Amino acid sequence: MIDANRELSGHKETSENRVAGKIGDKMGNKYSENRIRAIMARHRAGFSKNLGQNFLTDYTVIEAIAEGAEINEEDHVIEIGPGIGVLTIECADRAGFVSAVEIDKKLIPILEETVRGYDNIEIINRDILKTDIEEICRNAQNNNLNLKRVKIVGNLPYYITTPIIMKLLEENVPAESITIMMQKEVADRLISAPGKKTYGAISLAVQYYCTIDEIIQVPAEAFVPKPKVDSTVLRLNIRKEKPVRLKDEAVFFSVIKAGFSQRRKTLLNCLLGICGMEKGELSEFLENLGIDSKRRAETLDMDEFAEIANALVSKVE
Ligand code: SAM
Repeated sequence: MIDANRELSGHKETSENRVAGKIGDKMGNKYSENRIRAIMARHRAGFSKNLGQNFLTDYTVIEAIAEGAEINEEDHVIEIGPGIGVLTIECADRAGFVSAVEIDKKLIPILEETVRGYDNIEIINRDILKTDIEEICRNAQNNNLNLKRVKIVGNLPYYITTPIIMKLLEENVPAESITIMMQKEVADRLISAPGKKTYGAISLAVQYYCTIDEIIQVPAEAFVPKPKVDSTVLRLNIRKEKPVRLKDEAVFFSVIKAGFSQRRKTLLNCLLGICGMEKGELSEFLENLGIDSKRRAETLDMDEFAEIANALVSKVE
């Protein structure tokens, strides 16, 4: 019987093995499309389109994600959607501990094979959107007092990229960074700036919580099966201090949401529904802040949204 652990990984046991495994990967491409297809076939597992199962076949990209996440042995890595584990073992070679959260039951036996020999990986068969991430962090830290930081890593299923990112940011998970692969178009929106077509509520929301570094652009050819789109890996560095001072975060986000609710309309028309003012009064309110009420939301930067939100709060205080 073929051993998937040998097919895919260097063992944890010795550093010689690790080095040999990596050289082998680069020379012989252990993550080739054929090998991954063979492993899936041996387990009678298909690639689920609904769960976004496009697995990485390019070692350069796998290594770039692990390197880009800047993982070291004091880190607890939480991997979202490990698939058959190619990125999981790359992270485990660098981290103190890895918690790999995979929703698909049929992949668990494959994952267990891939990570055999590693004593610093736990596999959690759960939906990340229904997972208490703080609990995973607490458990890992109680079992390993050397863990100092949490870093989240993943090649995300495209259909839930935004909900996952927003869950992680809004729930204030105790992570230092989130290094994730996503559809290129989504990445373009996250890193966008005022005046660009791609700039919107999600750009502001993510940039409020994080600074962003682009790690690598990834063509569709790096996956099996090949997706229809190209991808980008970003590292979101969670800010210790927010970039703007807010009187009320909820008001800030509702101003942003309303502002972008109809991109073609002016700020004046977009904000009418949420501010409890007549047109004339709202126009004057904006002009007093030095903001032309005929501007569109996509031209406003974060400071200007914060200014509007804070002035609205002051008005009702
Ligand atoms: N990390 C692997 C790789 O790079 O080859 C697999 C990446 S694949 C794009 C996405 C993975 O996320 C799949 O294994 C899929 O089953 C898993 N997944 C999808 N939805 C999930 C969810 N809600 N929670 C946890 N895992 C999920």
